[in-house]
Amino acid sequence: MIDLRSLTKRTDLPDLETCLIHVASSLERSISVASLQAARSGVSGNLTIPHAIQVAQNAGLQAGYGAWTLSSFDNTLAPALLFLKDDRVVVFHGRSTSGRVLIYDPSLGDEIGEVFENNLQDVYTGYAIVFRRSQSEDTKNSGYPTAGHWFWSAMAANRWSYFQVVLAASIANLLGLSTSVFIMVVYDRVLPNEAKESLIALTIGVGLALLFDFALKLLRAGFIDQAGQKADLIIGRRIFNQLVDLRMTSRTGSTGAMASTVREFETLREFFTSATLVALVDLPFIGLFIFVIYLVGGPLALVPALAVPVVLMTGLIAQPILSRLAEQNFSDGQSKQSVLVETVSGLETIKTTAAAQQMRARWEDALERQSSHGVRSRAVTQFALNLTGFTQQAAQVLIVFYGVFLIADGHGSMGALIASVMLTGRALAPLGQLAQTLTRINQARSAFKNLNALMNATNERPQGQKWIRRPECQGQITFRNVEFTYPEQADATLSGLSFDIKPGEKVAILGPIGSGKSTVTRLLLGLYQPQSGSVMLDGVDIRQLDPGDLRRNIGTVLQDIWLFSGSIRDNIASGSTRPRDRDIIEAGKIAGVEDFTADRSGGYDLILSERGEGLSGGQRQSIALARALVTRPPILLLDEPTSAMDVKTEAKVIDRLKKATTDTTMVIVTHRTSLLSLVDRVIVIENGQVSADGPKSILTNHTLAQRRHLNVAAS
Ligand code: ADP
Ligand code: MG
Repeated sequence: MIDLRSLTKRTDLPDLETCLIHVASSLERSISVASLQAARSGVSGNLTIPHAIQVAQNAGLQAGYGAWTLSSFDNTLAPALLFLKDDRVVVFHGRSTSGRVLIYDPSLGDEIGEVFENNLQDVYTGYAIVFRRSQSEDTKNSGYPTAGHWFWSAMAANRWSYFQVVLAASIANLLGLSTSVFIMVVYDRVLPNEAKESLIALTIGVGLALLFDFALKLLRAGFIDQAGQKADLIIGRRIFNQLVDLRMTSRTGSTGAMASTVREFETLREFFTSATLVALVDLPFIGLFIFVIYLVGGPLALVPALAVPVVLMTGLIAQPILSRLAEQNFSDGQSKQSVLVETVSGLETIKTTAAAQQMRARWEDALERQSSHGVRSRAVTQFALNLTGFTQQAAQVLIVFYGVFLIADGHGSMGALIASVMLTGRALAPLGQLAQTLTRINQARSAFKNLNALMNATNERPQGQKWIRRPECQGQITFRNVEFTYPEQADATLSGLSFDIKPGEKVAILGPIGSGKSTVTRLLLGLYQPQSGSVMLDGVDIRQLDPGDLRRNIGTVLQDIWLFSGSIRDNIASGSTRPRDRDIIEAGKIAGVEDFTADRSGGYDLILSERGEGLSGGQRQSIALARALVTRPPILLLDEPTSAMDVKTEAKVIDRLKKATTDTTMVIVTHRTSLLSLVDRVIVIENGQVSADGPKSILTNHTLAQRRHLNVAAS
């Protein structure tokens, strides 16, 4: 069970989220702040109603949003979320014996209070979410599958739309027969007898069929779009979630390559929302058309029956070539994107070194490959296209040729011949796009394959994993015999590392470059997992903790500082679920952000460009430090946090940090003597093991040579 009091105080959640957690815990389901955080979207960062429903469903609740009158709420519907005016949300808890309504209102505290129905009626918007515990935890009926295959389950959720598409296409195909039959009847029956009345009736009939056909085609396009749009939202979201939750070890390839894989979702989506799909539905109807030709023209059906296999054979032969070209096209796209992303992100360095030459060569290489593959792909497609066109025309000529002989022998009528020519045209029409369809299918397949690999890569939140909940921790950190080797590296980075940091202790980790100091921070944050041994927080192996809970407890400044585009305030706020303004300002003060924003016009609202460009290294470190401090986490993990600051600024930051973190467990990786004043104990790491561990004074006992080796001077 969640301790609501501490949660709401610590993170200051908005009403909807607090109420949601409240409802879940009263239904004996739990919703973690981490999952709320993950569900939040939109610029405002607020939880929207659909996302709130999704979070509830993920936690094993059925939730339904709708209009309810207040009088319809009785005890069986409790607990329910009621939406009030002014964006307030309360939880309905039933009615008291005196008939008053029991309400949990997050803005009034944790108690459940009684209100008169009239008073509630005045502010109630009429909309509510009602809940029920799901029997099984899967979300079959929700329409928003979160379990199951990322792609097929979303498609399956749309099966009704796709069924409608197939149905509409089938009827359209049947209606397509009407024109040919019309012409046949006119030639054979109407013309010889000059039966004008029949002609009028027939024309009206065929006209109606055409109109119906037109309407169906419009509907069909609508169905496909609708299905695509829904699938798009669900799948797009899941792909992004997977990207964010991906284990660091499953990150393969360059940034650009990965971005390009994700972008290929477009290709896949386009396939399922385009005319290509319709062309596929039309294929089986070729058989029907040939059968009808047989009915009206008898042996004439032989001609299309021979032409179809010819075209299909072309497709069959082209298929493996097109498939290979699609794969190549995909990897060409990836390498192009990789070069592009790498170049754009390193523009300053590339300009000032001779790297431009290298990048240009790579770029041109990628372009060349793509264009040569493109030429081959187009050649194959064009050949298949021309051959199909040729076969179509030849079939029509042949049918006329053969038909004349049949008529001469008294085996057919003029009308039947004309109808057969028309039907042959129709039968072969879906094959006309066979080459393009094949190309599209292959592209979609290769996109699917690559995305599927990404979606199946190991993820930090495997489905069905049960986490130990740890909303707030003491701050005890233990490394026990940790062995760790980076993926695809031969040598172990950490080999049997052990240490224990008590709550509230302040420790510096020292060591020569490449000794594994930053690796220790990554393991502690659960970004990587040790091959053997364990990393523990408060005596629990961190593999059992929700990564969100874990990282919320640890305020971190990583060695490579990453800031995103947005204001300084946004960047600091991103350290927390929902920081208050005064927390941001407080953190900014300690970290020294105020020192450089004070004399700028924008202050905290100064807009940074990507990765914090436009700020100096030290300023970026200040912001990152403020981001780490904003939630006042029980643990601070700082990897060379002041390495780019000048001595004076650093001294001020250290001074303020010291005052603000008396109870905090602090782990600092550093080479700076100045930072040692923050700590009481040092751990020296060498060759992946602890080579010295003790109070600060051990440094003074080291020989001068050792000290120089560690890059620290005696303090
Ligand atoms: P430092 O003590 O300087 O912070 P690190 O912990 O960053 O050292 O790195 C320790 C060793 O691990 C280095 O030899 C480095 O080559 C290797 N290493 C660091 N990060 C990675 C990575 N992402 N993949 C592979 N090897 C890495
Ligand atoms: Mg490092």
